[in-house]
Amino acid sequence: MNSKRWIGAHVSASGGIANAPINAKKIGANAFALFTKNQRRWQAAPLCPEQILAFKQNCEQANISSDAILPHDSYLINLGHPDKEQLEKSREAFFDEMDRCEQIGLSLLNFHPGSHLRKIEIDECLARISQSINMALERTSKITAVIENTAGQGSNLGHSFEQLAQIIDKVEDKSRVGICIDTCHMFAAGYDISSYQACEESFTLFDKIVGNQYLKAMHLNDSKTPLNSRVDRHQSLGLGHIGREGFKFIMNHPATENIPLVLETINSDIWADEINWLRSLEQNKSAT
Ligand SMILES: [Zn+2]
Ligand SMILES: [Zn+2]
Repeated sequence: MNSKRWIGAHVSASGGIANAPINAKKIGANAFALFTKNQRRWQAAPLCPEQILAFKQNCEQANISSDAILPHDSYLINLGHPDKEQLEKSREAFFDEMDRCEQIGLSLLNFHPGSHLRKIEIDECLARISQSINMALERTSKITAVIENTAGQGSNLGHSFEQLAQIIDKVEDKSRVGICIDTCHMFAAGYDISSYQACEESFTLFDKIVGNQYLKAMHLNDSKTPLNSRVDRHQSLGLGHIGREGFKFIMNHPATENIPLVLETINSDIWADEINWLRSLEQNKSAT
């Protein structure tokens, strides 16, 4: 495989986290995403040494480096929660997620920034999110907090590049914070990537406002809903409003080398085909 890019999907970890790399290997991935616990529950049993060892061994067997793995945190966590007690609960759960990732030797944790729930100002909510990140980074040693851009549905923040930049701005350790761009969310939030030229403009804007050095991962999804719909509905690649051209741009953008590029598309039966198709779009593959 001459690909410079790490491409995979958000695979199932059902039956235990050690199954995730096996599922990734089956679809020809050299990257993957997973939940390290049930994403719809607050509590989870701690990981045991046997599980951790099996996970690491299976990653090695699948030839997937830990930097190409992008765990996703629980959907219940809201790091900008307006209510003090709920915020505290989210911060504790977020720390636990980071801790689990460190235990299994991973370097990234992907999460949605948070929601103001129409109870506090946007700036206040963004500041809380930064503070939540600071607290988690202080209690861990290696992991990078990877903020996912959102579609801007409801009161979810992090849909504009300005908001993402504002969160990063108040994070103390800039070396351990980054962004995961979800293409479906980006498009639904109003950044056009449906043509090569539109992509060029949108990614230039990202570099200007946030900075390409913060791009630590991507979620590659097409969108069932049109540009600026602010509605988050993933679609298989090429079958939505983004179409094919945008993904060709992404697969040849220097900032997408050596970061996890993860499908969250709706039909897992065609993930292997989607990965192959993405690889076929890469023009400058390395010679080795
Ligand atoms: Zn997500
Ligand atoms: Zn996503």
